[in-house]
Amino acid sequence: MGEILYGKPVAAAIWNEVGAGVESLGKRGIQPCLSIIRMGQDQSAESYENSIVSRFQKVGIAVKCSAVSQNADEEALTEIIQKVNLDESVHGCMILRPLSQHIDEFRVLEKLEPAKDVDCAGRMSLGGVFSGSGDYFCPCTAEACMNMLDYYNVPLRGARVAVIGRSLVVGRPLAMMLQQRDATVTMCHSKTPDAAKICREQDIVISAAGKLRLVDESYTNCRQIVLDVGIDSDKDGNICGDVDFERVRDAVAAISPVPRGVGSVTTAVLARHVVAAAQKSMKKTEENS
Ligand code: NAD
Repeated sequence: MGEILYGKPVAAAIWNEVGAGVESLGKRGIQPCLSIIRMGQDQSAESYENSIVSRFQKVGIAVKCSAVSQNADEEALTEIIQKVNLDESVHGCMILRPLSQHIDEFRVLEKLEPAKDVDCAGRMSLGGVFSGSGDYFCPCTAEACMNMLDYYNVPLRGARVAVIGRSLVVGRPLAMMLQQRDATVTMCHSKTPDAAKICREQDIVISAAGKLRLVDESYTNCRQIVLDVGIDSDKDGNICGDVDFERVRDAVAAISPVPRGVGSVTTAVLARHVVAAAQKSMKKTEENS
């Protein structure tokens, strides 16, 4: 049976780092603060927001939540973002997506100050990830995947990796981050013919397609590491991933489960970004004073 790569120890190591950062900022009179902006009343967005609030409170990070109706126009949304940009007590901001269909997501997201863009929503931040400049925050989920691979000592240099899914939230930036670590990356998406054949030839497969049980044993080989980013639900409402865990776990060297895999690391990465944003802002204030 393949090793199960749980997210919990990876997240615990990050939360320790976050706790130390919060404490040291506290000694300088600064409490890191995240703003969450939500549009509409989507149940999964609300429960994600609530889980961030309760987890962040435990570690001493403040959270300010703003919500606009799903019919709000771009101007109303932009106004909230601009308030966040000007609020010196807010260090990072996460705009929950997807936004309503009538909103031009790109146009709105790029209004957020890049220094506060802790989940890499704007074009500047994405450009930073694609160029490898290191000046901006990477998308939290993509970084969580990298942290999982590093924690479990999965070598990346020269590794062949398939990333399934090409969204700007996970797949595409993740592919760039893997390439920057000298992996050879193949991207598979909904129009890729015979993705199973491509994936079978890889050392690592990371699935972020949002398609229940897309990846079965025909995508795998016995030396392979599989990370499952997908959050899907089965016909009984149970949370599952893109990978058919029961069929794949015996066919590979290691696999991350859903739940208790990558998802547990993502919120910890977000907290790390908020602390880093607060530290950068403090440094800037000190340099200018
Ligand atoms: P998305 O819908 O924006 O993108 C999905 C991508 O998968 C698309 O590029 C599409 O081409 C590709 N795809 C769809 N069907 C495919 C198929 N049959 N074969 C190959 N590729 C296919 O979704 P997203 O925002 O990138 O999220 C992907 C999944 O990751 C979702 O299940 C989402 O819930 C989950 N997610 C998890 C976390 C986490 O913290 N674990 C965070 C964000 C997203």
